[in-house]
Amino acid sequence: MLTSINPYTGEKIEKFKELSKSKINKKLKTADKTFKNWKETTFEKRAELMQKLAEELKKNKEEYAKSISLEMGKPITQAIAEIEKCAWVCEYYAENAEKQLQPEKIKTDATESYVNFEPLGVVLAVMPWNYPYWQVFRFLAPALMAGNVGVLKHASNVMRCAENIEKAVLNAGFPEGCFQNLIIGSKKVEFVLRDERVKAVTLTGSKPAGGAVASVAGEIIKKSVLELGGSNALVVFEDANITETVKTCVQARFQNTGQSCIAGKRLLIHERIYNKFIEEFITQVRELKSGDPLDEETYIGVMAREDLAKDLEEQLIDSKEEGAKVVLGGKRRKAYFEPTVVINVTKKMRIFEEETFGPLISVTSFNNDMQAIDLVNRSKFGLGVSIFTEDIERANALIPQFEDGAVFVNELVKSDPRLPFGGTKESGYGRELSSHGIKEFVNRKTVYIN
Ligand code: NDP
Repeated sequence: MLTSINPYTGEKIEKFKELSKSKINKKLKTADKTFKNWKETTFEKRAELMQKLAEELKKNKEEYAKSISLEMGKPITQAIAEIEKCAWVCEYYAENAEKQLQPEKIKTDATESYVNFEPLGVVLAVMPWNYPYWQVFRFLAPALMAGNVGVLKHASNVMRCAENIEKAVLNAGFPEGCFQNLIIGSKKVEFVLRDERVKAVTLTGSKPAGGAVASVAGEIIKKSVLELGGSNALVVFEDANITETVKTCVQARFQNTGQSCIAGKRLLIHERIYNKFIEEFITQVRELKSGDPLDEETYIGVMAREDLAKDLEEQLIDSKEEGAKVVLGGKRRKAYFEPTVVINVTKKMRIFEEETFGPLISVTSFNNDMQAIDLVNRSKFGLGVSIFTEDIERANALIPQFEDGAVFVNELVKSDPRLPFGGTKESGYGRELSSHGIKEFVNRKTVYIN
C-alpha cells in the first residue's frame, strides 16, 4: 500500500493499492497495443489532443494544484504556477513537434539521403515528488508528440497527483494506453524496465535511484536519460547590481521551499561587496512568509516529508561542527525547516559538498575570478550556474570555464520548454525540453537511396 501523507498536518490523506505483476502486464500490453496505432497518427491529430490537454490543465488548475499542496506541501500559488507551466509545455510541443521532427536531409553521394525521427515505443518515466506535475509533463508532452506512449512510476508520496495526470490525459481525449500511471513502489521498477515492450527509461531524482535504474538499463541495453541532483552556485561578482541580484538569489534558493534540483544552493560572494550583500540578503529572507501551503500568502511551506527535513538538519549539524555559522533560521519542527542562511562555509563541509534539498543556503566568499570558477567546478554536480555581473564581456569570457549543463547570466537557472535542460557529471546525462529533448526517445533512422 502506498500512502499519501499531508506533510503540513501529518494526516494520512489517501491509500493506493500497489499493482500486482499481472496488472502491470495488462497495462504494458495496453500501452504496446496503443503504440501501434498512436505512431501512425498525424502530427495534426496529436497536436489537437495536446492543445486539449493544455486547456484541461488551465480549466482545472485549482483542483490539480491543490493535490500538489496537500501531498507535498508546496504553497498553493506556486502549485498553480506549476500547472500553468505544464499547460505551456503542452502548447509548446503541440506547436513545434512537427517542425522539430522533420526528416533531416543530408547531401551525400546518394540520390537522396536523410535522417528520419521515429518513435521507439513504450517509455518508462520514473519521477520525483518535488514538481509532481511539471517533471512528468516535460517528459509526457514531447514523448507523446513524437509518437511514443508513456508509463509512469511516480514517487510513492504523490500518487494522487500521478492519478490526476492520467485522468487529465484521458479527459483531453488521448486514446487509452497513451499514458498510464503505474501504482508501484520503487522495487517494481526493474520488473517494468526489463519487460521487452518497454524500450527506454527516463528518471529524475537522486543519484542512488538514477544509478540503480541506469545500471539495469545498461545491462539490457536500453536507452536512458537521467536528470539527477544539483548543487548550483550563485556567483556574485563585485560589479553586480546588488538589489536586483539579492532578489533573484532569494528566489533561486527558496522557491518551492528549496526543493529543486536547479536551486541555487551555494551562494558565492566577492569579498568586496560581501557585507552589504549578505545584510540585504538576510533582510529579504527574513521577510519570506512561512505557513499553511493552502494559504495564498505563504511562500515557504513545509518540506515534502519529515525524513527529508531530518536529512537536511543532519547536514547542517555536521557543517556547524566544522565551523559553519547560522545567521538566520536553522531550526526544524517536523517537516518544517526555517529559511536558513549559513555563512563561513568551506569546501569540505557537507552543505557545500552535498546537495541540500530544502530552504537552506550556504555562503562562501571569494576574491578573484579563478577562485570563483574553482569553487563552482569543485562540485560533483553539474546542472547549472548563475553568475551576476554588469560586465557582459566578462561574463562571456567566463562562460566556457564552467563545467555545468547551463550558465545563466543575471538570472536564476530555470527550465523553459524552448531551451534544453540537463546536466553534466553526477547531475546526469541527456537533455529534456526543446528540440533536443524530443529527440532523446526517437530512432534517428539513416536513410540512403542510391
Ligand atoms: P528518489 O531519487 O529516491 O526518488 C525519485 C524517484 O525514483 C521516485 O519515483 C522513487 O520511487 C524512485 N526510486 C527511488 N529509488 C529507486 C530505485 N532503487 N529503483 C527505481 N526507482 C527508484 O528521491 P527521494 O524522494 O528519496 O529524495 C532523496 C533526495 O533525492 C533528495 O533529498 C534530493 O537530494 C534528491 N532529489 C532530486 C530531485 C531532482 O529534481 N533532481 C527530485 C527529488 C529528489 P519511490 O518514491 O517509490 O521511492
